[in-house]
Amino acid sequence: MSWTRACLAASMLLIASFSGAAVQQARVAIIIDDLGYRLEAGRRAIALPGPLAFAVLPGTPRAAALADWAHAQGKEVLLHLPLQANAEDRDNEPIGIHLDMSRQAVNATFAAAMQAVPHVVGVNGHRGSLLTRHPGHMLWLMEEIRARHGLFFVDSYTTAQSVAMQMATEAGVQAVRRDVFLDPDPSPATVARQFERMKRLAKKRGVVVAIGHPYETTLALLEKELPKLSQQGIELVTISELVR
Ligand SMILES: [Zn+2]
Repeated sequence: MSWTRACLAASMLLIASFSGAAVQQARVAIIIDDLGYRLEAGRRAIALPGPLAFAVLPGTPRAAALADWAHAQGKEVLLHLPLQANAEDRDNEPIGIHLDMSRQAVNATFAAAMQAVPHVVGVNGHRGSLLTRHPGHMLWLMEEIRARHGLFFVDSYTTAQSVAMQMATEAGVQAVRRDVFLDPDPSPATVARQFERMKRLAKKRGVVVAIGHPYETTLALLEKELPKLSQQGIELVTISELVR
């Protein structure tokens, strides 16, 4: 082999290994939100293959049972903490943080929420389009999270004006922001499109946090598609691995 051909072969090998490395580095963490009301849908979600995380609403009838079940299956459990949203009328979860609460009330509510869900390794917000825009309340919340050593925060990012990431940094809480909602509406076409978007983003950026819900369409798609991810060069990782 001539020097030029050897050189060409070597550089092509280099390009191949670089693009191979880029594909191998794509990592995705998936969280399934809103567990706690329906036992069957919750258990079907927890049975999904791979290291997904399950975010459990405190004070719901099946919260402890589903958190125990997820933990027993080796899955991570998040506290899915309701944070006040812009539209008041749908804001009716049993335990949640509201803007009219004092710091003491925020602390007591957070403690009650933590009591209601066992095995919690991190916290993410349910709704929150109003509360996550308010630095005062978000900093109080982050300080409570910080006080329970080792907990992290996932910003569900339901408003572009969320200050959660800044307040987490200020309080010294490890945090990460949601990139993709898998089911902004639960139609099969939307769920399939968002799943493709998640994969594209992962290959482009290397790291993606996706959030879905225990809808029939979301669970059916994940049951079918999750086992194929590794062949597509995407590694499913735990949310705690991704945060840290
Ligand atoms: Zn939610």
